[in-house]
Amino acid sequence: MHQYQPAGGWISQDDLADRFLILIGDDILMNSEGGFLWEKRPWMDGQDAVRTGNLDQYSVSVIKTDTVLEESPEKSPKEGSVVNARHYMATQPESMVAFYSHAVQILRSRRDHRFCGRCGHPCRPGEGDWAMVCSVCEMSYYPRISPCIIVLIHKGNEVLLVKHRRHLRNTTMHTVIAGFIEPGETAEAAVIREIREEVGLEVGEVKYQLSQSWPFPHALMLGYHAEYKSGDICLEEEELVSAQWFRRDALPDLPPEFTISRKLIDL
Ligand SMILES: [Zn+2]
Repeated sequence: MHQYQPAGGWISQDDLADRFLILIGDDILMNSEGGFLWEKRPWMDGQDAVRTGNLDQYSVSVIKTDTVLEESPEKSPKEGSVVNARHYMATQPESMVAFYSHAVQILRSRRDHRFCGRCGHPCRPGEGDWAMVCSVCEMSYYPRISPCIIVLIHKGNEVLLVKHRRHLRNTTMHTVIAGFIEPGETAEAAVIREIREEVGLEVGEVKYQLSQSWPFPHALMLGYHAEYKSGDICLEEEELVSAQWFRRDALPDLPPEFTISRKLIDL
């Protein structure tokens, strides 16, 4: 069983890592043995490696090569094969998902906060945490996390499942309702609002179940169960193509097991 221990903040580049995770965009470059941890290679020299923590006995860094490829093609890896990150998430134990999810979000935050949004001057990695700090006004920018709710509605032995317009490529998959929490809103209020907006139903008891980090790009999904109270299904057609009650012993095609939507259905 692997263990990932994230570092508490930026670590000096002099403190070399033992192993490297190589990202091409958000996707992962696998080594020739099919593993995702690389030992140091000559083409990594001079690339921007960010040490993010420890995986088992190794200290681990992440290198993102997509920008380097354009600027200096000679530094692009000539080996390995790329795997889709969402596929990777589906097949790995939770510790590896935690490592990937942490590493990709730290890198994204550093890229997105190269300049201060308040005064426009360059930012640099801060000390003791993962903030990017403005070199002039000292404003701190922490990695962005966007809280969302995701909710399964119960009615006796039935659950409400929907098909999202954005999932149209997979026409048979049914899932649950989800949406971002608005500024000033509690998670429970967001559950009630999203259900009302998307399917026109009113719910009674709203109960927290579990959470999942989703790094595309930086969501924190808060999972709920809600009990149906009243109303008939009225579809928000811009987002959904269908919403339907299903008996628990006759469920349709569902999302993969590692997803929080599936865990909410299986609970
Ligand atoms: Zn500033």
